[in-house]
Amino acid sequence: MTRKPLLVLTMVFLFVFSLQVACFAESPANLPHIKILATGGTIAGSGATSSTTIGYTAAVAPVDALISNVPELKKVANVSGEQISQIASENMTNEVWLKLAKRVNQLLAQNDVDGIVITHGTDTLEETAYFLNLVVKSEKPVVLVGSMRPPTAMSADGMLNLYRATILAGSKDAIGKGVMVMLNDTIHSGRDVTKTITDRVDTFKAPEIGPLGFFTGDKPVFYRAALRKHTTATEFDVMSLSDLPRVDIVYHYANNTGTAIEAIAQAGAKGIVHAGTGNGSIGKAEYPAVEAAQKQDIVIVRSARVGNGIVARNGEANDDKYNFVAGDNLNPQKARILLMLALTKTADPKLIQEMFWKY
Ligand code: ASP
Repeated sequence: MTRKPLLVLTMVFLFVFSLQVACFAESPANLPHIKILATGGTIAGSGATSSTTIGYTAAVAPVDALISNVPELKKVANVSGEQISQIASENMTNEVWLKLAKRVNQLLAQNDVDGIVITHGTDTLEETAYFLNLVVKSEKPVVLVGSMRPPTAMSADGMLNLYRATILAGSKDAIGKGVMVMLNDTIHSGRDVTKTITDRVDTFKAPEIGPLGFFTGDKPVFYRAALRKHTTATEFDVMSLSDLPRVDIVYHYANNTGTAIEAIAQAGAKGIVHAGTGNGSIGKAEYPAVEAAQKQDIVIVRSARVGNGIVARNGEANDDKYNFVAGDNLNPQKARILLMLALTKTADPKLIQEMFWKY
């Protein structure tokens, strides 16, 4: 072959190759398909001035505004949004949880959805995350995200959080990790994370256990995985449920005489999570109310108001004698989620105890 045709051939090859590279780099077909489900919260809030970080209104901006506010999302995923609710998360209900869980399961069963991001208020974000961690039936990533400052504030944290949550939901490394929470560059397991500070951006922590990983720039980096069973490995199925069994929490303190337990039993609860002192202690003066509740077949879980540590079976109470369930290391609000789901399967405290050690 003479030199000229070789040169032409090389040029044609380089032209076609560069076209393909350009197409590959820009084609949205090569980006993950991520659904953003919006529920409200500060991430969709609005304040009167740019310095308003307290006293703003939560749950104002619709999902399309959240997405268009972060044009960078288009570079990392094919995103589309759906509004599930528009509430401050202190107003979260079983109804919204069931609607959300069913929609997540429907979407993740589709081949054209690779992951889901859920925007949420931070107050009960940990509860929704643990609920979904137990009822989502897919290995595909589900990431909850919120913000501590409304989008109208200086140094608002929601836009970067949403951007990173979307990257995480599309990341292959996030598959099979259970439902995650992403704020402040930190990736947490939905089981272990809790809100620890009322008003600052570094509020989400997993006390004693730590995060799953972090973001370094745009890259999620994992250091560990959650060992407690979740998502496809649980026995819970919410698809046919229209409500959840009523479970309330009582808080123990000095001089408590069990009035709250009596009121909850009267309201028709099927379960009570007792946020006890120390290692889940129940006061002597509460026992008459506790035993009366048990005569109504109400299941009692001993949790702790301390915030850290394991509530030991037969430690501060005789669980075998009283048929209590020891709440492991779940905080009271998470113990409530597991007890509600457990009660959809059984009212036997022994079987429920096994679930508290498994999930
Ligand atoms: N109260 C708000 C909520 O949970 C707080 C927040 O989103 O940060 O919706």
